[in-house]
Amino acid sequence: MKSNRVIQIQLQVSTTVWQQMTEARGEAARLWNKMVKLHLYCRKRNKKWPTQAQFEKHFARKFRLHSQTIQALIGKFFANIETTRTNRANGDKRARYPYKEKTYFNPVWKGQHIKQELNYIMLPMGIDPHTRKRQLAISVRLPETIPQGKIVQAELAFGKLLLTIQNGIEVEKPKVEKVAASDLGSIHLGVVTDGTDSLAVVGRGLRSINQGKAKASAQISQLQSRCEKYSRRWKKLQATKRKILRKTQNQTHNLLHKAANEIVDYCQEKEVSKLVVGDITEINKNKRKKASRRLNQEMGLLSLGVFVGYLKYKFAAFGIELETTSESYTTKTCPACGHKHKPKGRQYHCPKCGFVGVRDEVGAINLLNKYLNKGTIKPQFLIPNGNVKYLRPVKLKNFAKRSSPTDTGQPSIHVLCAVG
Ligand SMILES: [Zn+2]
Repeated sequence: MKSNRVIQIQLQVSTTVWQQMTEARGEAARLWNKMVKLHLYCRKRNKKWPTQAQFEKHFARKFRLHSQTIQALIGKFFANIETTRTNRANGDKRARYPYKEKTYFNPVWKGQHIKQELNYIMLPMGIDPHTRKRQLAISVRLPETIPQGKIVQAELAFGKLLLTIQNGIEVEKPKVEKVAASDLGSIHLGVVTDGTDSLAVVGRGLRSINQGKAKASAQISQLQSRCEKYSRRWKKLQATKRKILRKTQNQTHNLLHKAANEIVDYCQEKEVSKLVVGDITEINKNKRKKASRRLNQEMGLLSLGVFVGYLKYKFAAFGIELETTSESYTTKTCPACGHKHKPKGRQYHCPKCGFVGVRDEVGAINLLNKYLNKGTIKPQFLIPNGNVKYLRPVKLKNFAKRSSPTDTGQPSIHVLCAVG
């Protein structure tokens, strides 16, 4: 199995090389900014969005970067566009297409163009489009101890080199893929299982973030009601309100990222090559609507779709596949006898055969069962064993502290200070 690992190398280089690196990073930013502008232009004019191939043709030989670097950056830009598009389609209206003007951007080199000689890594710069001369490659000394394996990507950050190293040695792993399943957002953010050990990522922190936000903005509204609309003070209060909203959104994103990381960690630890998740577009249609709506409320403006988006992109980095499957009846079916009924409370109790299990786990295990048996939940195939670990992506205590200035319930000094 291929597995990629990213390592960071702090660079200590001569002034000349530093200058060379800074120029390359500036040139990469120039390309990035041009791409952002061109894409925006096409969107604004309602033109057909350009394809990656068109971009490659358009930007080829116009920058003082290696042609492969240009291609890699275009690839990165399009991946970025695609992620944003998916997130927006999934309801994350906060997701923006690249828009920031960059001063520096990390240039990227891919596999076969990275040369290694003794302890040095050579990052080719290609041909200068103006002088038509081959530019000097950036040559950097590597530390003595870097993990063995093939360097598949190099990215030049500020004073740092990020190397993606692929395990050169083909690890002899059983050919059968190991699949885990995750039941997303029915009760918790996600319950993931490999059939033996389950992990439930609890989304409670989300609620406290959003409660804090609601409280704070209510207080501000009250203060606003005492002053004239659009007055200086009113505007200042309004700005504070927006700031709080932005902050809670950031916290929510942060928490979701951490939750996704927990699931990724689990999959890596269990050497899972594929994770099956329920088709979330289905949730909105079927009877779990209520549950998902409640969760969506906790998540504030975000939907489960955003969470799935995070998972997808994090998994891609580790070579884990993410597959969606229909999750119908996975929470209702008894894993022991196949009887269907709607469970109540935190326990799953089968009225027919007497099976008792943790409800969180039953959903995830049945999803795995269903996937492995090509769409049907086979009774007795996988029996939940109650081995569920509960995990909060962020410690709630720390979160409450940070989540809002008004958690004390007192008219917050914070808010008043911010108003001045
Ligand atoms: Zn049963």
